[in-house]
Amino acid sequence: MTSFSYAANPVRVVFGSLHDVGDEADRLGLGRVLLVAGPRYGDRAARLLGPRLAARFEDAAMHTPVDVTERALKLVAEHDVDGVVAVGGGSATGLAKALALRTDLPQLIVPTTYAGSELTSVLGETADGRKTTQRSPKVRPEVVLYDVDLTLSLPVAVSAASGVNALAHAVEARYAPDANPMTDLLAAEAIRLLTDALPRIVADPSDVDARAAALRGAWLAGSCLDSVSMGLHHQLCHHLGGKFGLPHAETHAVLLPYVMAHLGVADANDVFELTASLPIPHSLAELGLTEDDIAGEPEAELLRQAVNGTRPTAPPSLKALTRQVVESFAGAP
Ligand code: NAD
Repeated sequence: MTSFSYAANPVRVVFGSLHDVGDEADRLGLGRVLLVAGPRYGDRAARLLGPRLAARFEDAAMHTPVDVTERALKLVAEHDVDGVVAVGGGSATGLAKALALRTDLPQLIVPTTYAGSELTSVLGETADGRKTTQRSPKVRPEVVLYDVDLTLSLPVAVSAASGVNALAHAVEARYAPDANPMTDLLAAEAIRLLTDALPRIVADPSDVDARAAALRGAWLAGSCLDSVSMGLHHQLCHHLGGKFGLPHAETHAVLLPYVMAHLGVADANDVFELTASLPIPHSLAELGLTEDDIAGEPEAELLRQAVNGTRPTAPPSLKALTRQVVESFAGAP
């Protein structure tokens, strides 16, 4: 018998409408909310929260810089906040999680991208150009409210990159050393939904069915991200993102097929075909990296191919590379 373990995550997930945000806040017992949201949906969310709103913060930033968190923490203290509602992408979610880490405040997240952070106990924070990632049950949000209508405004290029970011969670779950029958199922369905939906979103960004499928895929992929350890792909993305300030989703979108090919993952070519068809960057050079930047970095040959956008031809054997990956990143979350 194959041994494995699996724990279902205690997150309430609602597919509904932003209009439910007040009811969901009440369900959590929140009466003095800090709203983390940009201008696009912040006003609507503020109106819907009504008297439960204590303060607003608009400056969440990519990779969760600690100095931004410290500014938001001041608002939490000044306004005697009892919970955080975040409406936005992974940046807004990251700030809510960073606040929860420091205060234990409950979180209600309304995601507007496919980042999947809302499902995880993982928090990456940046200070002095270095991104450090930790896992803590304190940062896992209590409630996630998905409203597909909020994703209709996500520009096509951002949708495509964010969708491949979600795909990466499911792909890495497939070869994770702690994968189990449940995450296999979640990952397979997430991959099916995302690979089908992303080209349809690019063809018609207002296709609500495709948007709903992508959001469901992002949810399932995010659940994988929380349940199993991520591998080489995530390690490289986090490292490069923190060191060079690269955009999160686009870095994932460029690197995923290169890492899959490097690891000998069977569907690497399909993912190359998919990403080639999407309006996203296809090389790290398009994100501003040069060969000089990556000299001396781990997996320099893989990164050199990704800098130049050169598809690898002969992927090495999976067994040898899996061992190499495990050895390079043993113990990392
Ligand atoms: P993001 O939140 O920065 O959003 C990307 C851009 O899209 C921003 O300009 C934002 O304003 C805009 N945007 C978001 N939703 C929109 C909408 N519906 N309509 C129009 N514009 C919209 O980026 P992201 O890719 O969602 O998240 C990246 C961040 O999330 C990174 O900091 C990353 O480290 C983190 N992340 C963490 C985890 C985790 O488990 N800890 C998982 C994935 C991502």
